[in-house]
Amino acid sequence: MKLIPLGVGGAFTERFYHNNYIAEIGTKRLLIDAGTTLRESMKKAGYTYTDIDAVWISHLHFDHVGGLEELVMQRFWQFTDGQHTPGKTPVLVHEKIYPQLRKLLSAALDNQGRTVDDFCDFTIVSDKEVIDLEGLELQIFDTTDCHANGLVSSGLLINGPLGNVLFPSDVKDLRKANLLRFINEETLAIFQDTSFTFNGVHAQFKDVLAYYPKEYHHLIYAMHYNDNIEDYIPEMEKAGIQYVTERTAILLPLSPATPE
Ligand SMILES: [Zn+2]
Ligand SMILES: [Zn+2]
Repeated sequence: MKLIPLGVGGAFTERFYHNNYIAEIGTKRLLIDAGTTLRESMKKAGYTYTDIDAVWISHLHFDHVGGLEELVMQRFWQFTDGQHTPGKTPVLVHEKIYPQLRKLLSAALDNQGRTVDDFCDFTIVSDKEVIDLEGLELQIFDTTDCHANGLVSSGLLINGPLGNVLFPSDVKDLRKANLLRFINEETLAIFQDTSFTFNGVHAQFKDVLAYYPKEYHHLIYAMHYNDNIEDYIPEMEKAGIQYVTERTAILLPLSPATPE
């Protein structure tokens, strides 16, 4: 699997694009979240909306979902020239988030005799289900109340024959999210939302270091930054954790069949 960070910034970033990623898995491209900066961040990384095969939405904050309506609309109307062939967007979503996501999109898309189902092909999953994508297993797990109290949210575990990658998305209460249950000797990377100052809804750097056992620190990739991230690079390097930079692809050999 190849992971391309379209952006690394938090919700209110001015310098960076929102913390959205493309996971290239075999011949498929999974978009991990679709924030309001998506239209610029995708273009900058050399992708168009039609390059995407599926989208996973972790939760409904604007830096994760604000660009989804435009994406599904643009894909739907892409072939307009008298011979319009609608392009439906496959959307992966946890069952707890689905009703709100549907409502959000329906408010904009249910008109002109169409409904959101004309634009989106939803795959609604529970914690117990596993989605197969090109030989890798995708597990979407509930993190409700772990990011913000009263907010439904979810994380993603990608499992392959050679390893696994954890992508919890925004989480403050790491213990409550019980992320350690996904970490084992096969874990290749943990993409961790990390705040370097106090934050009511994001994990602080010291909490991240305290939560994950030391032997896993070198697998942690900090992300979802504020604009002054350079100030904290020495701290990250000292702790032995990594950080992501926009458009620098990260190769994660989860499967021998995945081309690199
Ligand atoms: Zn966020
Ligand atoms: Zn959030």
